[in-house]
Amino acid sequence: MDDFVQEVLLSHEEIVAICERLGKQIRADYGNKRVVLVGLLKGSIPFLAELIKHIPGELELDFIHASSYVGTLSSGAVVILKDMTTRVEGRDLLLVEDIIDTGLTLKEVTNLLKERGAASIEICTLLDKPEGRTVNGVNPKYIGKSIPNKFVVGFGLDYNEIYRNLDYVGVLKESIYKH
Ligand code: 5GP
Repeated sequence: MDDFVQEVLLSHEEIVAICERLGKQIRADYGNKRVVLVGLLKGSIPFLAELIKHIPGELELDFIHASSYVGTLSSGAVVILKDMTTRVEGRDLLLVEDIIDTGLTLKEVTNLLKERGAASIEICTLLDKPEGRTVNGVNPKYIGKSIPNKFVVGFGLDYNEIYRNLDYVGVLKESIYKH
């Protein structure tokens, strides 16, 4: 374990096992439909990369960059920094996220994609912090693991843009961000 980590929440082996379980479930639910996986940049990249190895059959990938976070506290406003290129109308979308806390980011993104006429929108998240939820209507169908309200890093999750490259998820030591 790295010295800036207080506790490991998901080892790499556990993450792979989660992706196997979710990948099977996703393909079983969509049957032979071609689902569009929409990764939320930047944090979903490692999870999305592992997840798609375990979803057999046809799928498409796209990305959207929406941001509501500065440092460790949610600022409340969601801005689209980079948009998708796929035409959304009539498509089955599966939004792939690293972690859901307040739910604000996904609420805004879901509303936008509904307005564009998506046939269906579901959410797949590696981690869920249900205690942090402040908005209604964000109910991920696919959840890797529910965790307590702690600030975590690794496997895509950052603190001021670092730690995304860890192959596990851990709780960041408070001494790193409280001076
Ligand atoms: P929400 O809009 O649901 O409050 O926040 C979702 C986004 O906030 C995530 O995509 C992630 O970027 C960030 N976030 C929420 N909780 C954590 C956390 O514990 N660690 C890190 N690194 N980012 C988090």
